[in-house]
Amino acid sequence: MLRIEFEEPTESVCNCCQNAIVRLTRFVYKDDDAFAVYYAQYTHGHSEKRLIGIISLGEWGSDEVGAEARLAFPFQIWMNGDNFQVGLVDARDSPWSHVTFLGRILDRTEALAHEWINDVFHITDHMVEDDKEIVEYFS
Ligand SMILES: [Zn+2]
Repeated sequence: MLRIEFEEPTESVCNCCQNAIVRLTRFVYKDDDAFAVYYAQYTHGHSEKRLIGIISLGEWGSDEVGAEARLAFPFQIWMNGDNFQVGLVDARDSPWSHVTFLGRILDRTEALAHEWINDVFHITDHMVEDDKEIVEYFS
């Protein structure tokens, strides 16, 4: 069972339209063990609603292990009619491509072939159901 811990969203201003860019930080627990961290961001007022995110899986429970024990999966979420679409993206297309503590960032092809990919989609399923900010953004 997954449980998400929610931080307060932070906001900045979009260079293209002066609307608010919202950034989310979330901690995911599986059976009360630290399981993943995800970041997500979206901009209010853009014509297409699109969330950009990254999920870091691996060892999060202990200070003794570093980023080499984790891998990061960058993705986007958008709506197609009533359905959520989740697409993996390449590392260089992620706004977090310079962040190292999430673990090595996988490109799309490698991510889709990785044994952890089902955990990624399990978490994105919860994001669009349980994450109040994300649910509101897409509603
Ligand atoms: Zn903008």
